[in-house]
Amino acid sequence: MFRLLYISRAAPTISDEQVQDILQCSRRNNPNTGITGILVHGGGLFMQVLEGPEQEVLRKYVKILDDPRHSAAEILYISPANNRIFQKWSMGGIESDSLQFQYISKLHARRLEVVDANTFTETMREFAQRLREAK
Ligand code: FAD
Repeated sequence: MFRLLYISRAAPTISDEQVQDILQCSRRNNPNTGITGILVHGGGLFMQVLEGPEQEVLRKYVKILDDPRHSAAEILYISPANNRIFQKWSMGGIESDSLQFQYISKLHARRLEVVDANTFTETMREFAQRLREAK
């Protein structure tokens, strides 16, 4: 098991329909590769967690990098993991207006440091909780 978190800049012209398209496409594709995760959009940014088998996560990330609907992707966290945080979601979606974006900024600001594993897990569990509440 492997977990990867990245942040990227959404294309300036991206519409709500396009974000929904990305989510639908992800939900269609990810179960075939054992990938689960969450996609957060807002403030001109995307943040995504991909978790699953290492090769599948890396392959998916490389594919996503090529997508013109975003740019300037930066990995904030990448690590083997014992279990999934987002096991229930082939790709959960959150609009960041409904959550405190400072969690993302906090991780972004610290990207050059080794992100503390506990802080990361805590933040992600909070996302998972919000997702559960939203469903
Ligand atoms: P296709 O069948 O060619 O495309 C699938 C869908 O994506 C179609 O609805 C198509 O209209 C739409 N699409 C593809 N490219 C574009 C484009 N340039 N502009 C507008 N619409 C387009 N894919 C996943 O499978 N899993 C993920 O977790 C995932 N996360 C993503 C996160 C972000 C931030 C972005 C920007 C994209 C993500 N994608 C994800 C999409 C990924 O980049 C590919 O577009 C997708 O995997 C291609 O799927 P496919 O091979 O079925 O191709």
